[in-house]
Amino acid sequence: MNKPVDMQNIQTVPLWIDGKHKQAAGARSGEITNPATGRVTGRVPFCNAADIDAAVQAASRAFPAWRDSPPLRRARILMRFRELLDRNRDQLAALITAEHGKTLADAGGSVQRGIEVVEFAMGIPHLVKGEHSEEVGTGVDTHSLRQPLGVCAGITPFNFPIMVPLWMFPVALACGNTFVLKPSEKVPSAAMRMAELLKEAGLPDGVFNVVHGDKEAVDALLGHPGIKAISFVGSTPIAKYIYETASKNGKRVQALGGAKNHAVVLPDMTASVADLEFTVDGLMGAAYGSAGERCMSISAVVAVGASADPLVAKLREKASQLRIGPGDSKVDGKDMDMGPLVTRAHRDKVAGYVDKGLAEGAKLVLDGRGLKVTEHQDGNFLGASLFDHVKTDMTIYKDEIFGPVLCVLRVDTLDDAIRMINANPYANGTAVFTRSGGAARKFEREIEVGMVGINVPIPVPIAFFSFGGWRNSLFGDQHVHGMEGVRFYTRGKVVTTRWPDANAVPQGFNMPTLG
Ligand code: NAD
Repeated sequence: MNKPVDMQNIQTVPLWIDGKHKQAAGARSGEITNPATGRVTGRVPFCNAADIDAAVQAASRAFPAWRDSPPLRRARILMRFRELLDRNRDQLAALITAEHGKTLADAGGSVQRGIEVVEFAMGIPHLVKGEHSEEVGTGVDTHSLRQPLGVCAGITPFNFPIMVPLWMFPVALACGNTFVLKPSEKVPSAAMRMAELLKEAGLPDGVFNVVHGDKEAVDALLGHPGIKAISFVGSTPIAKYIYETASKNGKRVQALGGAKNHAVVLPDMTASVADLEFTVDGLMGAAYGSAGERCMSISAVVAVGASADPLVAKLREKASQLRIGPGDSKVDGKDMDMGPLVTRAHRDKVAGYVDKGLAEGAKLVLDGRGLKVTEHQDGNFLGASLFDHVKTDMTIYKDEIFGPVLCVLRVDTLDDAIRMINANPYANGTAVFTRSGGAARKFEREIEVGMVGINVPIPVPIAFFSFGGWRNSLFGDQHVHGMEGVRFYTRGKVVTTRWPDANAVPQGFNMPTLG
């Protein structure tokens, strides 16, 4: 049961439109809760079409001047924003922990990964340079340009309140677009703080706006004729809906969806104590870090041949020792390994998957359902669970659980593992653990997944590469940040030039050819 709410102290998060706070016109709102205590800490407005229109209008008004500002000037604002993010890192991490629940150290790490995208976007004068060829015909030169699209929108999930928006808007703004962000209604405060920091960095009013809400707000964004491109990150069914709806409305879309990430462990990695420790330490953070609420979490371990028994024994040993508690607390002077899940409903859904796994015949090696965190009985805590002998037709394998539940599947060969992964509808990230260069190379070449780790369990690409999965983990053509991000937020133009010249080849009626 949640504690009684002191309604007088509950604040409603405002919108951010035209460089200032604004109250929403929409009458509906939702609760923001602290996952560690279960207490309501605020309210978030659910925008209606009029709110969305106000944000898009502000972004449209700001677009021409922002588009026409030199890329270096835009980069300098991002440089100041980068410094402000760095200086406010602890406060931003605390905002994440208070609404998402993950540990402060983990939240700080995600702020850092977001800052790296800002650092990438600071190089925009170089990144949007075009190409030039002289004398493509006699007296004729050709050059290419990349130009911004206009107003772009970002719709983001609950699990990375700072990092995922930073995958999008620094690149969009650097390219000369203006932006409307709709963060997850579960974690709205971090986006508001970033809006304030952008203003402090010197961003002109209207270039960046924040709206809040649920399906009504999202549908208004998808249907608004003033929006040229939509970036989405969230679950697969919603990603597919966003892609189909926004594409039908003539918008450019990148919609990143859910995941089921496999780590393959070859027998050579369980042959020595050191390699087994190395592998299992990597898998612990990848499976249970952020309570499994990461799109790059490892949720399925594929144990090849003789690796299975030693691997499961070591996974069980380490998973049963995890420090679990409020993300802003310590035990014996050490950070927690895992905080609570985001909401009570999500916690109960994940616990339900453990029930289901048992019912479908998987072997429950470690059961996290009974965990109690003293003095935080109302928090959304769940211990680490580990299943062995999971089969591909079981619900716990087929569904994205998005919680601290790791499934071990046993196969005979690396080929079996590759076949299993390539048959899965999701294809976000995957990893192989081995000392064999030949096996790693085979895996890298044959695996049909967007992001691959070789002895790296969460292979999130650094900001100057691009992030994105295949199959049901991404709808659209361009991944986020890196050069694909620059291409997504710009469109190409090619200019062919000729100047009047006494020696010029005469112009005629026929299709021009090299003259
Ligand atoms: P979600 O799909 O429920 O919500 C994402 C966004 O969509 C939110 O802003 C939400 O308000 C909005 N939304 C929710 N329901 C909607 C509807 N019916 N119509 C229109 N909009 C709607 O996702 P979540 O629970 O916030 O986040 C977890 C999911 O995100 C997981 O599936 C995870 O794998 C995925 N994720 C993917 C990546 C990636 O890079 N592929 C990264 C992070 C998270």
